[in-house]
Amino acid sequence: MIEMTDVSKVYKNGVTAIDSLTVKIDQGEFVYIVGPSGAGKSTFIKMLYREEKPTQGKIVVGKFDLMKIKEREVPLLRRYVGVVFQDFKLLPKLTVYENIAYAMEVVEKTPEQIEKRVFEVLNLVNLKHKARMFPNELSGGEQQRIAIARAIVNMPGILIADEPTGNLDPDTSLEIMNILEEINSQGTTILMATHNSQIVNDIKHRVLAVENGRIVRDQLEGDYGYEA
Ligand code: ADP
Ligand code: ADP
Repeated sequence: MIEMTDVSKVYKNGVTAIDSLTVKIDQGEFVYIVGPSGAGKSTFIKMLYREEKPTQGKIVVGKFDLMKIKEREVPLLRRYVGVVFQDFKLLPKLTVYENIAYAMEVVEKTPEQIEKRVFEVLNLVNLKHKARMFPNELSGGEQQRIAIARAIVNMPGILIADEPTGNLDPDTSLEIMNILEEINSQGTTILMATHNSQIVNDIKHRVLAVENGRIVRDQLEGDYGYEA
C-alpha cells in the first residue's frame, strides 16, 4: 500500500516538482505514471524509496511512515521497494549471477538461500543459461530482465520501474511487460513511469497522469492520452 497525502517537493533551486499531491495505491495494483518530460514523474517515484525527501506532506509505503523513518531504517525500506531503471544500472564487473546475488549478500542471506533464490528469479526472467555472462555480453532486453531479477530477489512488496522500456525495441518491450505482469500476478504492486503510449494503450492498467507536479487524471484501465 502506498499513500501520499498533500505531498510537495520543492528542490533547492526553487523548482516545485510535486505540488500538494494526494494519491492512494493498493497492494497488488499495476499503475502507469504518464506525463510530459519535467512533469514530476521521477520525483514522485524517487520519494517512495527515499532517493528524495518531500518538503511537505505525508508518505506511507507499506509499513513505513516516511515522515518518521530513521536513517538506519532506509535500507529496510529499499528492500521493500525494488527499482529498475531505463539504463539497467547493472554492475559491469560482476557476472549476471553475482549482480543478483549481491543484492542478497548485503541482507545477509546464507549462500544456500542465495543460490536457490538467484536461480529462481533467473528462471522467472528466462535467463538461467546466462548466469555466468557479464552484462556487456547481453542484449538490452536481457540486461533489463537481469535488472528486474535483481530488483525482486528480496521479494519486495513494490516494484518501481522508471521508463523500463525506454531503450528497447517494441518486441523486447513486450517481453519486459510480460515479466512485469507475471510479477504483478504474484501480488507485487507495480508502478511504472513510461512514455510508451503503445504499451499503456494495449496493456490496460490504472493510469496516473502527472502534469506540473499534480495528478491531472486517475483512470482505471486508462489510456496514454498524449500525442506520441
Ligand atoms: P519527469 O520525471 O516527469 O521528467 P522530474 O521529476 O525529473 O520530472 O522533474 C520535475 C521537475 O523538477 C523538473 O522541472 C525538473 O527540472 C526538476 N528537478 C528534478 N530533479 C531536480 C533536482 N535534483 N534539482 C532541481 N530540480 C530538479
Ligand atoms: P530521469 O527523468 O530519467 O530520471 P532526469 O533528466 O529527470 O532523468 O534526471 C537526471 C538526474 O538529474 C536526476 O538525478 C535528477 O534529480 C537530476 N535533475 C533533473 N533535473 C534537474 C535540474 N533542473 N536541476 C538539477 N538536477 C536535476
